[in-house]
Amino acid sequence: MTPEPYRPEPVETFQSHEAFEAMRKALIEVRAQFGRHYPLIIGGERVNTPEAIVSTNPSNPVEVVGQSAKAGIAEADAALDAAWRAFPGWRDWPQEHRSRLLLKAAQIMKRRQRELEAWLVYEIGKNWTEAAADVAEAIDFLRYYAISALKYKDGAPVLPYPGEDNEAFYIPLGAGVVIAPWNFPLAILTGMTAAPIAVGNTVVVKPAEDTVVAAAKLFEVLEEAGLPPGVANYLPGEGSEVGAYLVRHPRTRFINFTGSLEVGLQINETAARLSPGQVWFKRVFLELGGKDAIIVDETADLKAAAQATVQSAFGFQGQKCSAASRLIVVDGIYDLLVEEVLGRTEALIVGPAEENPDLGPLASQKQEETVLSYIEVGRQEGRLLLGGRRLEGSGFFVAPTLFDRVSPDARIAQEEIFGPVLSVLRVPDFDTALEVANNTRYGLTGGVFSRKRERLEKARREFHVGNLYFNRKITGALVGVQPFGGFNLSGTDTKAGGPDYLLNFLQMKSVTERF
Ligand code: NDP
Repeated sequence: MTPEPYRPEPVETFQSHEAFEAMRKALIEVRAQFGRHYPLIIGGERVNTPEAIVSTNPSNPVEVVGQSAKAGIAEADAALDAAWRAFPGWRDWPQEHRSRLLLKAAQIMKRRQRELEAWLVYEIGKNWTEAAADVAEAIDFLRYYAISALKYKDGAPVLPYPGEDNEAFYIPLGAGVVIAPWNFPLAILTGMTAAPIAVGNTVVVKPAEDTVVAAAKLFEVLEEAGLPPGVANYLPGEGSEVGAYLVRHPRTRFINFTGSLEVGLQINETAARLSPGQVWFKRVFLELGGKDAIIVDETADLKAAAQATVQSAFGFQGQKCSAASRLIVVDGIYDLLVEEVLGRTEALIVGPAEENPDLGPLASQKQEETVLSYIEVGRQEGRLLLGGRRLEGSGFFVAPTLFDRVSPDARIAQEEIFGPVLSVLRVPDFDTALEVANNTRYGLTGGVFSRKRERLEKARREFHVGNLYFNRKITGALVGVQPFGGFNLSGTDTKAGGPDYLLNFLQMKSVTERF
């Protein structure tokens, strides 16, 4: 097979009349499909349950975008059974065939691009460009993993040895569990699902409760691409119930989790305990939160720094693991930079996501409550420069918020808020800035704005984050270009979208025949 070389899908910004009109049309057509019911999919069968998960529009929560069936323990057992039943067949598919199927899925997503974006606008409150970036990344993951998987099909090189025939080859692990967050409902879910199945594993997929419809769309795509029954099973349910059950299940071979540190810690602990009947060490992949910082020194291009800070802090309302939540500024240019950031933040428009504002709503009432409670903490810990309040409207609208005079040990400088709240910290010099930046338990993304070569090189070595950016925004890692994953309590650094990611879901077998 000769696939086109992988290149990231360009992200639509809707500047052209054609793209703008296509999106408007997609929004109308998707709205007409609101309220549909999506059953579980277990072993290719549609399964309904007495209870449902209702997914609403955070811009206007009285609107029901759709609903899914809600799995309990019995369905979780059935899904894991189905995944194991499907495993031997899928494992034995030639790699080219599996890769071709995923490339086909990417093509289907591409065909449905505007429609999928519209679902994300409604279900989780992304503005159009944020939704476009999410769908583009999902397409990227499918293509990148489809192509990357081909490089493992012939095994690994080993040295010749007299009198023996030696070989080492890769085999998949078995049936695993994918547990995903709501903030990249298509991209992250697609990536976490596509990677294990690309190399012959099978999965039970537990999407976040807030985004069961986006997950159902992924399953429509996979089904149309011809994925055999049971290779991926759609299992919405409560994380603390079915998610936790699947994590401790003796037949779960691996857990691919993206979400909060709190849940990640529980999963790590539970998965480490041997359940009765379990005959392997579960592999656990954890991609967790961040407390990401941008450093700006006195040599920096201040306008560029301010622009990138505002994009990194407030894109998708700050609900990205990579979002800037600390701005660390050296003394000399502090006032100038803060003024630039303030001016740009004041100009941001907040509103219903379908109107394509700069910021849409927060994802849920729970998110709104968390963010507002952190804003209260911030009032005690710093000086409120801007925002700090809920906005009018039935949606979960919160004004982009800036605090300064924040100490490095303040809670709002240490804990992940996951909302449109930026803390500004003043430091005397660049070296202190780097110390402050490293002074949290996380280590996901970070950025430096400077024109001093030796400072950039020092940061390259000492700024301890999985994804470091110089003189640009710190969000928007591209699949295959910036492998993504964090250090310290930001996770297990699996580097999604990186050249070695698929190895996580493979094990190497070495076979020797004596002649
Ligand atoms: P949560 O940790 O609350 O939830 C993530 C998933 O875990 C959901 O599907 C949830 O189900 C499920 N879950 C909840 N409790 C359990 C449990 N006890 N056992 C098993 N599964 C469980 O995170 P959010 O969805 O709120 O996502 C936001 C978080 O994700 C942020 O911290 C963010 O930084 C992080 N994130 C990290 C990324 C990275 O690459 N490092 C990327 C994107 C986000 P349910 O929906 O039913 O609660």
